[in-house]
Amino acid sequence: MRGALLYEGKSKQVYATDDPQRVVLRFTDRATAFNAQKKAEVADKGRINCALTVHLLERVGKAGIRHHLVKQISDTELLCEKVEIVPLEVVVRDRVAGSLAKRYGLPEGAVLPEPLVELFYKSDPLGDPLIPDDAAVILGFARKWEIAFLKETALAVHGVLRAFWKDLGIDLVDAKYEFGRKDGALLLADELTPDGARLWDAKTGQKLDKDVFRRDLGDLGDTYRALAARVFGA
Ligand code: C5P
Repeated sequence: MRGALLYEGKSKQVYATDDPQRVVLRFTDRATAFNAQKKAEVADKGRINCALTVHLLERVGKAGIRHHLVKQISDTELLCEKVEIVPLEVVVRDRVAGSLAKRYGLPEGAVLPEPLVELFYKSDPLGDPLIPDDAAVILGFARKWEIAFLKETALAVHGVLRAFWKDLGIDLVDAKYEFGRKDGALLLADELTPDGARLWDAKTGQKLDKDVFRRDLGDLGDTYRALAARVFGA
């Protein structure tokens, strides 16, 4: 099933398949932070992130949002539509945290009066800088209609996931979404995991996401295994 390695990401790999329209996305146990300046191997991470991505993309799909997943083919591998990734990360925030807190000198945790959508330009050498909509259009990273669609769809995805996590007693604080172009359409792509979202326990405020690794708050493997147990049962 798996052909040549097409792309090696920080924690995932993309392989060609016999079908030029499809790729295999492989989740590794690698954890990275601060543009890969900090690295570790975390047992079970690939398997858990793969399972969470499948579960969450299926939820989102049931809500009528198109995504890139075709099917799961192993514990750590997904068969996906081959897309041309839009070079923008769409971050949706329900609360002040992370780079938003840092940028404006605010404490983390305040609930925003409505979800905030921010675009970041996908560039490892530049460290994914925040980008205004106009700049993204004028610089040719996305068309104007695409940006409107990305923002609206990211908000819809976030709404589905907010409700999903809330049912499990978890607050979705913020999350990053990526999209890909295929045959003139835009599909939700990439992963839906605690590597790319902030998840706080609604009662205790405990962090259940990659901030545990970024900020040395505990064992990331234990955190992800506990999260998987809440989603899939122990
Ligand atoms: O760092 P920042 O506060 O902008 O991150 C917002 C959300 O986007 C977080 O959930 C973070 O995990 C995610 N993110 C990501 N990849 C990036 C930047 C942020 O998944 N390159």
